[in-house]
Amino acid sequence: MSRRMLVSGNWKMHLNHFEAIQLVQKLSYELVDHDFEAVEVSVHPPFTDIRSVQTVIDADRLKFGVGAQNVHFEEKGAFTGEVAPEMLAKLNVGYVIVGHSERRQIFGETDEIVNKKAKAVLKHEMTPIVCCGETIEQRDINEHEAVIEAQLRGSLAGLSAEQLGGLVVAYEPIWAIGTGVTASADDAQEMCAHVRRVVDDMKKGAGDGVRIQYGGSVKPTNANELLSKPDIDGALVGGAALDAVGFGRIVQFDRS
Ligand code: PEP
Repeated sequence: MSRRMLVSGNWKMHLNHFEAIQLVQKLSYELVDHDFEAVEVSVHPPFTDIRSVQTVIDADRLKFGVGAQNVHFEEKGAFTGEVAPEMLAKLNVGYVIVGHSERRQIFGETDEIVNKKAKAVLKHEMTPIVCCGETIEQRDINEHEAVIEAQLRGSLAGLSAEQLGGLVVAYEPIWAIGTGVTASADDAQEMCAHVRRVVDDMKKGAGDGVRIQYGGSVKPTNANELLSKPDIDGALVGGAALDAVGFGRIVQFDRS
């Protein structure tokens, strides 16, 4: 099955809405129609920027998808500070990152919470980008495959074959996020193939459809090698996504 590449920029807690508009405009100068035919591109600004970014994308007919970095799983109610899935759907958000390791580690999100969020995103017809990843300690004692399998089984529990086949999983080894240390392309490929096997084992046939991104210090200099691997269907990019030229070069990795 041919899966469409998806390169996503996670802006984390950077850029106010004026700066966000500037970045998306600069990025639009870097990419041409042909790039968007070959690769789907989503940008994930902070919540406060989404409306502004989406307005620019609509007005200038840009081909970026708008994504969010997080969501709450409840429909509405007394959840001070949270954002409901329906609010994102109304802003034409297409992708929502759930279970990023920073959410898991800093804000205590469990697989159970991530699972509720993934289901809430799907209910509102958006696509979850479900993150998983091991620590360096877990890798050092050779537990990385088991850790990823447990995260996936917990975070994706109860999804149908169709839902599993249509979602995006981001494999992001925690030791590679924001550190400048990237997994080798072979290690990343091995783990993305493992993710695909686990998803397929959860529901037969789903492994072929699920798109698997690699994330962790992806840069213009390593994107070609990573994205040429058969089980890597795109990248979730943090730091390098804040630089229009660099992010543009990642999207334009050597597709020959
Ligand atoms: C991320 O935030 O998901 C990420 C991979 O960050 P970085 O590219 O900076 O490592």
